[in-house]
Amino acid sequence: MNLQSPVAAIPIDEVRLDRLAEVAVKVGLRLERGQDLLLTAPVEALPLVRRIAVHAYEAGAGVVTPLLSDPELSLARFRHAEEQSFDRAPTWLYDGMGKAFDENTARLAIVGDDPMLLANEDPEKVGRANKANSIAYTPARERITGFNINWNIIAWPGTAWAMRVFPELSADEAVSRLADAIFAASRVDTEGAVTRWEEHNAALKQRSDWLNGQNFHALHFTGPGTDLTVGLADGHEWMGGASQAKNGIICNPNIPTEEVFTTPHAARVEGHVSSTKPLSHQGSLIDDIRVRFEGGRIVEAQASRGEKVLEKLLDSDEGARRLGEVALVPHGSPISQSGLLFYNTLFDENAACHIALGQCYAKCFRDGGSLTREQIAERGGNESVIHVDWMIGSAEIDIDGVHQDGSRVPVFRKGEWA
Ligand code: ZN
Ligand code: ZN
Repeated sequence: MNLQSPVAAIPIDEVRLDRLAEVAVKVGLRLERGQDLLLTAPVEALPLVRRIAVHAYEAGAGVVTPLLSDPELSLARFRHAEEQSFDRAPTWLYDGMGKAFDENTARLAIVGDDPMLLANEDPEKVGRANKANSIAYTPARERITGFNINWNIIAWPGTAWAMRVFPELSADEAVSRLADAIFAASRVDTEGAVTRWEEHNAALKQRSDWLNGQNFHALHFTGPGTDLTVGLADGHEWMGGASQAKNGIICNPNIPTEEVFTTPHAARVEGHVSSTKPLSHQGSLIDDIRVRFEGGRIVEAQASRGEKVLEKLLDSDEGARRLGEVALVPHGSPISQSGLLFYNTLFDENAACHIALGQCYAKCFRDGGSLTREQIAERGGNESVIHVDWMIGSAEIDIDGVHQDGSRVPVFRKGEWA
């Protein structure tokens, strides 16, 4: 367990840390003058939180409100709370977040917790707590997946997380190495970070423009343990890099990001698929996932590790067994080339093609901003209280784009754009 004081000296380059804070505010959020900011972070990330507050206020932020979490507090619940309490969640808090977003508050999340924090806790309690939290989180999640406001996620090199990624190093060395990996992946390792992001966004837009021009009916993935046809939603739109929130602000929700992604058709996914990286889900590790789809629905699911957590996840609601996202990432992406397994979706999803179970992104439709829930469902957009990405890409994956008339276009060969 990490007992490091958040105000102790940190083995992290302060110049690049400040650049990450600047990029979060100027590129990730593009915070507008007068906007309030809601920020969540692990308590260990306080040095980054403080720098973000400075950049946010310099950019004209109204009020910056941080909500800090602590791993010891999370564990205390699973070890000492009463049995019947695990179906509870702080509904009032998420209702408040929904209200804040309705009032145009921007949202920044800093991730950095131990990916296996809850690995040794009772999976039954963990599953119940996750489900209750996902349901209570609905008012906030709907406004995030609906892209009502500008939001952004960045990472802090938490000590326990760093020691999972670099188990052979001392705590300080591991944090320093993970910090370097985060800075490089987030394109803040050199000067001119804001310009580098503009160039990167232009390259991602070129990929999504090509896919939108093709307007494929489905994508067909083949590789070891995988033969999967993912139908694409009617009127789907590919997105990548910066995009415009409904409040008019063009932001980069994920830093880093290497993916172009769109909405699959909830009823048109067939075949089987195997995960290519372990999935770290809310403190548990799920490995070697193998599932089979029929009519868009997962009808068989196995995992070599964390199968119970996977089952609970799939039972969250009806939409949890269907896809809400499909994303393309070349095997040669910088994060993939780092060779690191981060045990963190923000990074691992940008190292490999992936699919997500659950809620779709309303913005991934042509005219996405103006569609009602019913219209999104009619076009094949999935609805769920979960959205969980897992990796299916590797150097061995081939992808064909399939047109309505059955004709095929190579999209990926051996993990790279064809
Ligand atoms: Zn994704
Ligand atoms: Zn996703």
